Amino acid sequence: MIRPARIFLVPLVLGLCGEVAVAAQPAKPATKKTVTKRPANKPPGGIKRELFAGRVVMLGDALKRRGVKSTDEFSNQVVLETPVGELIPIVPDWRGRAFYQDKRLRNRPVELVGYRRHGIPYLQVLMVFTIDRADKRQKKTVRQYFDYWCDICSIPMYEIKRCECCQGPIRMRFQPRDLPSYIRTDAKLKAKPAASPNRDASP
Ligand SMILES: [Zn+2]
Repeated sequence: MIRPARIFLVPLVLGLCGEVAVAAQPAKPATKKTVTKRPANKPPGGIKRELFAGRVVMLGDALKRRGVKSTDEFSNQVVLETPVGELIPIVPDWRGRAFYQDKRLRNRPVELVGYRRHGIPYLQVLMVFTIDRADKRQKKTVRQYFDYWCDICSIPMYEIKRCECCQGPIRMRFQPRDLPSYIRTDAKLKAKPAASPNRDASP
């Protein structure tokens, strides 16, 4: 099987910006994959990365739906609401912060690869996948890896801001992509119904 997502990781432009300094070292064969640089994509030793599915919503709204009154101090907090109704608060770090900044990422089905440290309820997100219908008339869904992208500099970013390099606007980028292998292996063990229990009725 060809894995199309990988193709997108090959830098298209040898130009201006940070990552290119790496790519522009002794000319490598074009087939060599360049790994997109991400800060801290691994949890501290011994902590397992897991898949968390649901929708990211504002904590205040989620509490209100449950009849819990809360005051303004919660007004910026976002949480992942899982299919069974659990609320998992998200750490506003290099990856989770986008859910605080960008409402387009909220109130839609997502799958988040991330982890929780022992004793801490907060989710630290490492990868964001959106789950959308492939076709409005069908129930079939497509999983896409999400980040922000500068078309000029061809660099990914993980929060919404001006491009780190050219200071121009960046856009949302969605790439059809499988879950990482360390998640897929575990997901298989847990069996399929857990994948998207409320939507996917396909065989
Ligand atoms: Zn740029």
